Amino acid sequence: MNFHFMKDLSEDKIRGVLFGQAIGDALGLGTEFMTKSEVRRHYPDGLKDYAQIVQDGHRARWREGDWTDDTDMMLCIAEAIAEDGEVNPLSVARRFKQWFRHNPMGIGRHTHTVLSIGDYEEKPCLVAEKIWQMSGKRSAANGAVMRTSVVGLLRQDVEKHAAGISRLTHADPRCVGSSVIISLMVHSLVYQGETIPVEELIKVGNRYDSRIEPYLQMTQEGSLGVLQLDDERTMGYTLKTMAAALWCVYHSRSFEEGLLAVINEGGDADTNGAVAGSLLGAKFGYAQIPVRYMAGLVRRAVLEDMAEALLEMLPELK
Ligand SMILES: [Mg+2]
Repeated sequence: MNFHFMKDLSEDKIRGVLFGQAIGDALGLGTEFMTKSEVRRHYPDGLKDYAQIVQDGHRARWREGDWTDDTDMMLCIAEAIAEDGEVNPLSVARRFKQWFRHNPMGIGRHTHTVLSIGDYEEKPCLVAEKIWQMSGKRSAANGAVMRTSVVGLLRQDVEKHAAGISRLTHADPRCVGSSVIISLMVHSLVYQGETIPVEELIKVGNRYDSRIEPYLQMTQEGSLGVLQLDDERTMGYTLKTMAAALWCVYHSRSFEEGLLAVINEGGDADTNGAVAGSLLGAKFGYAQIPVRYMAGLVRRAVLEDMAEALLEMLPELK
């Protein structure tokens, strides 16, 4: 392979990550908080397109083909990187807070609590750590892993930055470890064109928390059902979101097949869809994503501009 071919290939995958995430988020909204049987009732042939999304009280607040908080927060990170020319966690935190001031919809409880603290912008990690301790160290929501895909696009220090950006709101080692794992997988798919074997991910996970390994093991099962994504008590758990997205990388033959498998399980489907979509976009590339999913995104131009800015900035990054 010559250099230019490799470069074009990674550019296609960088776009694939951004668009894959946004599409998974926007389509996943259609089954968010549903059980699998509710998904079947509302979408007898499965949810496949934005136009099918039922307009109930929860979903009608968004325009058809719009993404939610997951992609908004991913874009806060992307914007900070593109504008600063370096990874500055405090600058990312400032953008989170700025976004929070506009009363965003769909924001998770833990993230809401952390971002509402007065001196969040000055000491984000300390605030996040305190709120986590006040939860009895039980809170391990998927609010950090949902936005971490873009960190995998950095050329170097992916693990360090994924951990640091997770800790801006989520201190639990399961949140940090799952964010690191997703970012490393994005990086490997985009720049090496390789899937990281699960044994390698287990080693990474064990550096953070022993509770990660069983969820990594579940990604090797033949069916997503093993994850019980629609279980009401655990649907926002960071390890479930991580495992669902990795399952797609290991088992799907196309972007569409993987994404539809995840979101039709219900549960925290916009977030599961966002992370799965980003990995599938990294694996298969932008060119393999069905055009109707791109065309239906109402804020498509925002993503296109961000992709251009990142493509220009990433090779120069300090
Ligand atoms: Mg959401």
